[in-house]
Amino acid sequence: MIRTTDVLVIGAGAAGLMCAATAAARGLAVVVVDHARKAGKKILVSGGGRCNFTNMDVGPEHYLCANPHFVKSALARYSQWDFIALVSRYNIAYHEREHGRLFCDGSAKQIVNLLLNENQAAGSHVELNTEIKSVEQNEQGFLVTTGLDRIQCRHLVVATGGLSFPKLGATGFGYRIAKMFGHRVLPTRPGLVPLTLASDTEMALDKLSGISLPVRMGAEDGRRFTEDCLFTHRGLSGPAVLQTSNYWQHQQPVEVDLLPQAQIEAELQALRQSQPGLSLRRGLTRHLPRRLIDTLLASRVNLDGPIGQLTREQTDAVIQTLHHWRPVPNGSEGFDKAEVTLGGVDTSEISSKTMMSQKVKNLYFVGEVMDVTGWLGGYNFQWAWSSGYCCGQAMD
Ligand SMILES: Cc1cc2nc3c(=O)[nH]c(=O)nc-3n(C[C@H](O)[C@H](O)[C@H](O)COP(=O)(O)OP(=O)(O)OC[C@H]3O[C@@H](n4cnc5c(N)ncnc54)[C@H](O)[C@@H]3O)c2cc1C
Repeated sequence: MIRTTDVLVIGAGAAGLMCAATAAARGLAVVVVDHARKAGKKILVSGGGRCNFTNMDVGPEHYLCANPHFVKSALARYSQWDFIALVSRYNIAYHEREHGRLFCDGSAKQIVNLLLNENQAAGSHVELNTEIKSVEQNEQGFLVTTGLDRIQCRHLVVATGGLSFPKLGATGFGYRIAKMFGHRVLPTRPGLVPLTLASDTEMALDKLSGISLPVRMGAEDGRRFTEDCLFTHRGLSGPAVLQTSNYWQHQQPVEVDLLPQAQIEAELQALRQSQPGLSLRRGLTRHLPRRLIDTLLASRVNLDGPIGQLTREQTDAVIQTLHHWRPVPNGSEGFDKAEVTLGGVDTSEISSKTMMSQKVKNLYFVGEVMDVTGWLGGYNFQWAWSSGYCCGQAMD
């Protein structure tokens, strides 16, 4: 049996559901298929179950993309204010956390229900548990064979997301379709991901595991993030590290200011005057956990010596270690722990206004499957909403 529809969206995640509801609200017949048993699985687990659904401050500077201008049009046409208005229309209570991040007061499920409700109200059909067997282009558009039947559509939207969190249903399917239709796919790697460090005598991770502190850190490109860093038994995690991971390249160090709120040179100078007999360790533990000081500094300076007798060389070693610590991660925790995928379908072959392929008429890509990656803080969902909406508006 062959069913026909105007629009077939593959992927009932954030971008696919937004696109489908928008297209259906404009009178198009829309079917959404997903191989998962639940729609919006990533939304459900996002933001610790409260979904950081957008940010008060959204701009192209919060995204990584080989073409930095690509996101501008969609973000302007469906902004954070549009999504906030939608959330408010559903009376979903939310709150703002640090850096303008907006979270549901209740549960991420409210956002999934909102999207499903928008789809139902507009008449789009969301079909779960449905495997895609093949996609072919024909004169009428595209013929998609699923495990259940065949669907003929005029418009095909690829909304299958990236590779992160395979246990939530992520696959490389979108990239395969893109390549099949002659699109370039830029190399993918995990983003917003914890970084791993080799544990050796200098970097005894078992001793540091559990320490969390505000830092200012970044990769070699110079961009810096002031957020918390968490030492784990495998390396570094926490928001500052996830943000840095988007910019970090293999074999490069990251630079960490472990004391962004203090000038350690001035502090030591003051202590030299007021308490010259105080040990360096006691002086530094006023600012940082002893475990951290011992691990990073014991091999470089005499922590038991009095601050009054610190040499210039020793002072420099302390400043360098605490304000400019440069560990070299040996990798990341991979797609299993990454919130997003860097790279993906090359945006230079996609219209930034409609998300339509410039190679194949009526083939579209929305959301994370494209080479667009946001910072931590609701930016990735905003991209899903904005790109999904613009695509849904563009189809005729
Ligand atoms: C743990 C975690 C927490 C996150 N928290 C946040 C947050 O708080 N704020 C934020 O902005 N971003 C967050 N993100 C990122 C955000 O979830 C994604 O950027 C966003 O979901 C991308 O939307 P999408 O629709 O492009 O892809 P997805 O939401 O991943 O949806 C893709 C859909 O396609 C389906 N699919 C895949 N392959 C196939 C196939 N072969 N056949 C049929 N269907 C298929 C999948 O089942 C899925 O339903 C988080 C990500 C993770 C993993």
